[in-house]
Amino acid sequence: NYKQTKLNCFQVDPYCCQRRTPLQHHNKLLTDAFEILEENAEYIESSNDTKGYSRNLAYRRVLAVLRSLPQAVTSVKQIKDVKHIGGHSQKIIQELLEEKCCLEVEEIKRSVRYNKMKLFTGVFGAGVSTARRWYDTGMTSLNDVIQHNEDRSTAQKYGLAFFDDLNMPVLKAEAEQVKSIVKNITESILPGVSVTVTGGFRRGKTVGHDIDLLISHPKEGAEIGLLGKILEKLQQLNLILYGSHNKCTYSERHFTEEPRDPPTNSQMDHFEKWFGIIGLPKISTEKTVLIAENDASDKSIKDLVDLSKSEKSWTAKRVDLIIVPSSQYFYGLVGWTGNKMFNRDLRLYAQKELNMRLSSHGLYDLTKGCLLTSNSEEEVFKYLKLPVIPPELRNC
Ligand code: ATP
Ligand code: MN
Ligand code: MN
Repeated sequence: NYKQTKLNCFQVDPYCCQRRTPLQHHNKLLTDAFEILEENAEYIESSNDTKGYSRNLAYRRVLAVLRSLPQAVTSVKQIKDVKHIGGHSQKIIQELLEEKCCLEVEEIKRSVRYNKMKLFTGVFGAGVSTARRWYDTGMTSLNDVIQHNEDRSTAQKYGLAFFDDLNMPVLKAEAEQVKSIVKNITESILPGVSVTVTGGFRRGKTVGHDIDLLISHPKEGAEIGLLGKILEKLQQLNLILYGSHNKCTYSERHFTEEPRDPPTNSQMDHFEKWFGIIGLPKISTEKTVLIAENDASDKSIKDLVDLSKSEKSWTAKRVDLIIVPSSQYFYGLVGWTGNKMFNRDLRLYAQKELNMRLSSHGLYDLTKGCLLTSNSEEEVFKYLKLPVIPPELRNC
């Protein structure tokens, strides 16, 4: 009967890569609370403590399940037997359903530690361990961190100086703007190249924290040396504020005819890439003028802060450029579309259920001892014996 089906409607497949997870889902009241718990667990957890249980990962699994449910949870009974939602999480859900808020979450939101950690991890170049060091040293504001003369990475220096710009959400139109700048430059160097916006925007998000661009060419090997030339052009156009070019040789090794190693299942890939900050001209109806004032190399943090606060016709934006050889393109595309949790489970599922190793470089069947080449994203899912989940439903 109807009541019975309503109570049993929440059954989920164990891996989030088996589920359809839209951006707009039915359980925002719950996920808003669990997002706080998840963040806070990450701030508290020791990064060396990787062998044991992770509260942060447990909350991420709860979040992934809640986002995939076909309707709103209205009674805790409905999720009693649902995978990944343990006793503590059920209590929180019950409290949220009854009270519309949760004491533990409200306490975290008020805690100094959570708020300072959130502020400090919002600095480009600063991870949880850096944020914790700043917090433990007694710093409470970005100004404290700026004034404290500790050894800072160049990335952190720029992250601090351009904090406001970089914490403004990146709009889809801005991602498209950066894409066409990069596409035009790249096309003039190497005709026939493809530039694809991946990451959150490909999953249908309208705002993001950065712009992820995959760059590839149908002719395997044509992309060698391309990124250096693109960066030179961007530099000439005065668009680069900061950047770190990772010249990996792994992908170069991999489009030779030599047998390939089974790809590892680590999150980090080995593509040649650039992580950086560009000064993006503000979208205006007038003809865009590229300005000279954004050449900030070798400036002190004080100069940079002044520059970031000055009246300027551009905003700092985080950009990732990734060079993907065409034979690895669709694996790279899946890996850089994400989200992170989707990738994590995709790789775990491949290993546990199929004895295969998946990475952004390829899929290796350990039983057969062979690499599975793919000519489409659909084929990747087919090899993995999964329904094709479109990018918009990978928001776990
Ligand atoms: P946002 O809108 O906040 O940028 P996002 O999903 O685009 O969200 P990113 O951090 O930009 O998040 O990452 C995009 C995808 O690329 C993620 O799913 C992640 O798995 C993958 N990714 C990010 N960094 C790396 C890396 N260094 N190596 C391999 N894959 C990565
Ligand atoms: Mn992104
Ligand atoms: Mn990114």
